[in-house]
Amino acid sequence: MEKLVIIGSGCAGMGAAIYAARGGLSPLVIEGTQPGGQITTTSMVENFPGFADGIDGFGLVWSMRSQAEKFGARIVNAVVEDVDFSGSAKKIFCSGGQVFEAEKVVIATGASSKMIGAKNEMELFGGKGVSTCATCDGAFYRGKDVVIVGGGDSACEEAVFLTKFASSVKLIHRRDELRASKIMAGRIMQNEKITPVWNSVVKEILIGSDGKCAGVKVENVKDGSVSEIPCSGVFVAIGHKPNTNVFSGKVDMDEEGYIKPKSGTFVCTNVENVFVAGDCSDKRYRQAITAAALGAMAGIEATR
Ligand SMILES: Cc1cc2nc3c(=O)[nH]c(=O)nc-3n(C[C@H](O)[C@H](O)[C@H](O)COP(=O)(O)OP(=O)(O)OC[C@H]3O[C@@H](n4cnc5c(N)ncnc54)[C@H](O)[C@@H]3O)c2cc1C
Repeated sequence: MEKLVIIGSGCAGMGAAIYAARGGLSPLVIEGTQPGGQITTTSMVENFPGFADGIDGFGLVWSMRSQAEKFGARIVNAVVEDVDFSGSAKKIFCSGGQVFEAEKVVIATGASSKMIGAKNEMELFGGKGVSTCATCDGAFYRGKDVVIVGGGDSACEEAVFLTKFASSVKLIHRRDELRASKIMAGRIMQNEKITPVWNSVVKEILIGSDGKCAGVKVENVKDGSVSEIPCSGVFVAIGHKPNTNVFSGKVDMDEEGYIKPKSGTFVCTNVENVFVAGDCSDKRYRQAITAAALGAMAGIEATR
């Protein structure tokens, strides 16, 4: 039986692996379909402490991985399809029929951004003009025109944040009013840099001669008219979905599927010896440093 299995190989999984490996647990990390997690999709991380000149996302998480392996973590390529946490031996059923048993488990499966499905969206994602994280990428658009897609509280918060850098922010929303709270909506309407584009959906992201985003093609859902908005960046802010389906009914979750840490703790679930870390439980901060830190806490708890 394994002492500790960590499900997920992003910043949270690696934070847990480094601490648990140094604590002598020789953890087994199940890496899933995205080895290294979401951070591998960005070419430049400028806000991870310790890298004054920035570092590419892949390099960052791969060096965490080497650090974890150096202390005895083992990484296997598999995807968890089901779990049984009812007994003291936690059972983890993986793709290809592999089954692992462990005394303790850290769930670090992250979250996926919902995408709009516009033409060229994925081609330009992560460094070429399409982003799902204003906190991460807003500073790359200093003095540029950007659009943000969405109408909820986080879209509005991100739109306001983007005005610190961008010269203009067009907020594209499929309805004619924001879903955000009144206070947030008020901030949008009063901000001179933000212009709402109502009743509209982005159909295509236009590619410039440099291979990067040059604008968006937008359709008005009321009258079907199509127009183009020139811009250097498109921020998609229509929500996230935690990657937690396989844990449904096995640990406490909130109504959106985020795993709920026990009250008064950051990383302990309602099931003894099952811990959680990173974006699959944290819907507020969603950063590499916060995920790694929660991973570290889970690794410490597992070692204790
Ligand atoms: C484009 C982009 C740019 C970003 N830029 C920055 C930035 O500049 N600075 C910053 O701090 N943050 C940035 N972020 C946010 C940061 O990447 C995330 O907050 C962080 O990666 C979350 O780490 P995590 O380990 O919780 O989850 P993830 O990185 O999502 O990792 C989840 C892991 O779980 C695995 N997994 C999922 N389901 C299963 C399963 N069923 N079985 C096994 N494994 C599974 C996946 O394969 C993956 O390895 C960016 C995010 C994106 C998308």
